[in-house]
Amino acid sequence: MTNYCITPPPVISLPIIGTSDRFPVRRIYCVGKNYKNHVVEMGGDPKRSTPIFFTKSRETIVQSKSDIPYPPLTENLHFEVELVVAMASATDIFGYGVGIDMTRRDIQAGAKSKGGPWDMAKNFDNSAPCSALLPSTQTPDITRAGIRLTKNGEIMQNSDLDKMIWSVEEIITHLSASVTLGAGDLIFTGTPEGVGPVSIGDKITGEIDALPPISVHFIND
Ligand code: MN
Repeated sequence: MTNYCITPPPVISLPIIGTSDRFPVRRIYCVGKNYKNHVVEMGGDPKRSTPIFFTKSRETIVQSKSDIPYPPLTENLHFEVELVVAMASATDIFGYGVGIDMTRRDIQAGAKSKGGPWDMAKNFDNSAPCSALLPSTQTPDITRAGIRLTKNGEIMQNSDLDKMIWSVEEIITHLSASVTLGAGDLIFTGTPEGVGPVSIGDKITGEIDALPPISVHFIND
């Protein structure tokens, strides 16, 4: 038996629809610029876009229906609703969920202007709310499915997965050329247009047709 000098960190996991088993999260990869209209709203040129990837730590996962303390060092915390792909192996998909790629937009803008890394804009405490997962065996065709985000009941983002520039299969192919994907990895596949800020007291809900929703509420820290 191995003795550890500190208590090993807990396994981070997500619920699975239809079973009490849970999905243990390994790594989180995120795709930037995967919907043309979002690239445009961020001031980019969609014709010249290629898939870009960044990461979040698994500890950034937040379960649905949680309260999230408004994070420090930002005055422009944004929501980005995204399809989440959960990997069963390097090549096989376990299931799908709905995630919200929370972004400290002001820190991201500062990093972009300096050509610096995005980490502190994307990979901070509670920055990856994610729904329960629906096993792929129970998931209908999601190459075309409505994707929405509501804030306090008002629709802020409203698009369709068929607007993704890079399909799930293409994303997995691109990522696999760069790293060896593995069981437990999550891929946040990018957000459509309509991203915007949240304030303390706001409740946001991300939905994709046929998938379980993700809902979180922002509170004063
Ligand atoms: Mn995103």
